[in-house]
Amino acid sequence: MSGPNTSFDPKQVSALGAESVDAVVAEALTAIAGATNLTELKDVRLAHAGDRSPLALANREIGALPPAAKADAGKRMGIARGQIKDALDAREADLQALRDAQVLNEETVDVTLPVDRSPMGGRHPLTTLMERICDVFIAMGYDVAEGPEVEADWVNFDALNVPPDHPARTMQDTFYVESPDSGVVLRTQTSPIQIRAMLDRDVPIYVVAPGRVFRTDELDATHTPVFHQVEGLAVDEGLTMADLKGTLDHFAQEMFGAGIRTRLRPSYFPFTEPSAEIDLQCFVCRGESIGNSDKPCRTCGSEGWIEWGGCGMVNPRVLTAVGIDSSRYRGFAFGMGIERTLMFRNGVTDMRDMVEGDVRFTRAFGLES
Ligand SMILES: [Zn+2]
Repeated sequence: MSGPNTSFDPKQVSALGAESVDAVVAEALTAIAGATNLTELKDVRLAHAGDRSPLALANREIGALPPAAKADAGKRMGIARGQIKDALDAREADLQALRDAQVLNEETVDVTLPVDRSPMGGRHPLTTLMERICDVFIAMGYDVAEGPEVEADWVNFDALNVPPDHPARTMQDTFYVESPDSGVVLRTQTSPIQIRAMLDRDVPIYVVAPGRVFRTDELDATHTPVFHQVEGLAVDEGLTMADLKGTLDHFAQEMFGAGIRTRLRPSYFPFTEPSAEIDLQCFVCRGESIGNSDKPCRTCGSEGWIEWGGCGMVNPRVLTAVGIDSSRYRGFAFGMGIERTLMFRNGVTDMRDMVEGDVRFTRAFGLES
């Protein structure tokens, strides 16, 4: 008959009882579920599965159990530690996935945020307007022609049929690069580009020539010594004023809206014969302000028409001067100021705004291309 095992202390090994172990496991599972990030979970793992955890401490007492109880207690401890380990591993996988998702989310580049907070400028409206004008003519099959701003006075004046004693040739109107005898001027108009086009190209010729021109004007609200013109030139067989008029009407409609017409008034230019001033039908009131005091129009001064530029059939003498057979070919030409076009197209009232380079002026036109 065996007596009681005196080394068995029920109090000492109570932690190995089923109830105690279940309670420890339940506490551990609650703590694991409550860990909201990997750092917290690390602490939970240490507290509930580490060397000093209740289960680890209880496990040490197995040796104190009677042999018959050891197997049971060992099995129970194994299951408990397995449950806690599985729960820890599962929770760790979840929290890692959560952290990865957070990192991805936080490090996402928001492509809609402005990358550069310095304010954007704008292209100068004169530039965009010139390009738009060129586009209209390119669509009709014209080439864009360019020429030098420092020009021989023969090309700027003589070839354009401007006689040597013409007042436009004086220093009051024209910038001479050196003395008036030097024969070198800052071009006063874009017409010399027409001369160069006729000298360089074979007929038929269809060119549009935008460019900067120079005259000795003081800068004020309506004058500037440096301004821009655009000219068009066509030389071909059988061209008439009707072709010129049709071209100008198309140009006007592309610039100012469908149905806008042009009107020609007889005029005189040395290099065209006959010559005409081009009036543009007012694109604001379309002529309805004429004689209608109830509806005055500021754009055209209630006249229904706006002066736009000059045009005409190329003077045969000009064709002859550049070696084109004027008995076979005829040409038409037209020209207008870009600044003036911009002024009434966009309601700019002071020419100085266009030359001062203030970004507050250009930005209002946006980035129109
Ligand atoms: Zn009007």
